[in-house]
Amino acid sequence: MSLAIALLTQDLRVHDNPVLHAARAAADEVVPLFVLDPDVDATGFAAPNRAAFLADCLADLDASLRPLGGRLVLRRGPAATATARLAAELDAASVHVAAGVSAFAHRREQALRTELGDRLHVHDGSLTAVVPGAVTPAGKDHYAVFTPYHRAWSQAPRRTVHRPPKALRTPDGIASEPVPAVRPESPALPPGGERAGRRLWRGYDLDRYAELHDDLAADGTSRLSPYLHFGCLSAAELAAEAHRRGGDGAEAFVRQLAWRDFHHQVLAARPRAAREAYRDRGDHWLPEDDEECAAWRAGRTGFPLVDAGMRQLAHEGWMHNRARLVTASFLAKTLYRDWRIGARHFLRFLVDGDLANNQLNWQWVAGTGTDTRPNRVLNPLAQADRLDPDGAYVRRWVPELAHVPGRAVHRPWLLDERPAGYPDPLVDPSALSDRLRAARGLD
Ligand SMILES: Cc1cc2nc3c(=O)[nH]c(=O)nc-3n(C[C@H](O)[C@H](O)[C@H](O)COP(=O)(O)OP(=O)(O)OC[C@H]3O[C@@H](n4cnc5c(N)ncnc54)[C@H](O)[C@@H]3O)c2cc1C
Repeated sequence: MSLAIALLTQDLRVHDNPVLHAARAAADEVVPLFVLDPDVDATGFAAPNRAAFLADCLADLDASLRPLGGRLVLRRGPAATATARLAAELDAASVHVAAGVSAFAHRREQALRTELGDRLHVHDGSLTAVVPGAVTPAGKDHYAVFTPYHRAWSQAPRRTVHRPPKALRTPDGIASEPVPAVRPESPALPPGGERAGRRLWRGYDLDRYAELHDDLAADGTSRLSPYLHFGCLSAAELAAEAHRRGGDGAEAFVRQLAWRDFHHQVLAARPRAAREAYRDRGDHWLPEDDEECAAWRAGRTGFPLVDAGMRQLAHEGWMHNRARLVTASFLAKTLYRDWRIGARHFLRFLVDGDLANNQLNWQWVAGTGTDTRPNRVLNPLAQADRLDPDGAYVRRWVPELAHVPGRAVHRPWLLDERPAGYPDPLVDPSALSDRLRAARGLD
């Protein structure tokens, strides 16, 4: 009787799981394993919101594996050591894991290789719809611009979407840690897990996506990002299904999945871009620890759209994409602070907080990344008029302004009576680009 370990990382699902699929094909018995790794905690990445969501994912995955005859084994320790120990305990013939894109994932893979040698099998195509590096421009190892990437991505061959296993045999008597109990920092976190993710996906009306995805008050995007981050849903499966459904909404949605893949292929090729400017613009950012950064974090900049976004982030552990762009531009461009300050704060709260998507979107906004117009500054007032024309998004998240009707809510400093408890604008509303322009010598 042969046995394989499926070491699960960011692929916490039974549907379309290349690692589970390969482990099952390789052996009679399969042990799905997740390792609670203190090295992840040490990176600061395991913030309470994501740790709580992860705990849901682990419990849910175990519940899905049991009717198949399997279960999830949880171990604690550095991933490579804990996996090698279990492999020795069970005399496992092979260990299967998904390829990752971060420097951490590369190090983990190397450590697993050192421990396991050729018993380790690394599988592509689990994290993204198109494997990072599968499409490249001539003579380069990755795309640095989205539009040509999207063109190539759309035509790239796709792997088969795997069905969930019909049955799985996991031997009895393997010691396992309990799923950790974690208290999230945000009070309105979504439930984690594959079943919750699939329910959301099944109930989501893709046809409305094209029309509503930029409307802040409509809250019309899919909110699938945390399920994609933890791999409760497979990007390859969603892209294939959306493609089959067709229409403008599906097309616009699939384009966003391509953005996700785009950032993953950048990070896979340039892991240091998680910490360092992808394109150095010679910035000497203003210092961090002052009242302005604190006001930004607390949602008290005096710019209602910025404040609404920051408060949504703290409350839900999630923020609408358009609000992410505006709040990030405000910190990095209007206040001219280091994008890493903002990225760190986002990672403290975001339940979908993802190294590729967070760091590279921050760099995109800061103009140190892949944006082809690195010096554009998003004006939070013009953005508010366009994305929240009636002001409903701001009134939802900024109670001090809840009584202000219509779009007047976006410029409280112009009201006859200033709303009590709401701050004045941090910077002159007519000088939103001044710091960046001066710092980058654009005048
Ligand atoms: C400063 C900043 C930080 C961000 N940090 C993260 C992050 O940590 N994790 C994260 O998943 N996304 C991040 N994004 C991208 C985007 O804002 C979120 O993916 C999106 O808001 C999630 O909501 P949704 O699932 O309803 O998206 P939908 O609009 O329904 O899109 C479907 C999926 O496509 C992907 N997607 C959508 N937009 C983008 C994008 N711009 N870049 C990459 N993938 C995208 C996501 O996986 C998303 O779930 C960030 C954007 C900015 C501007």
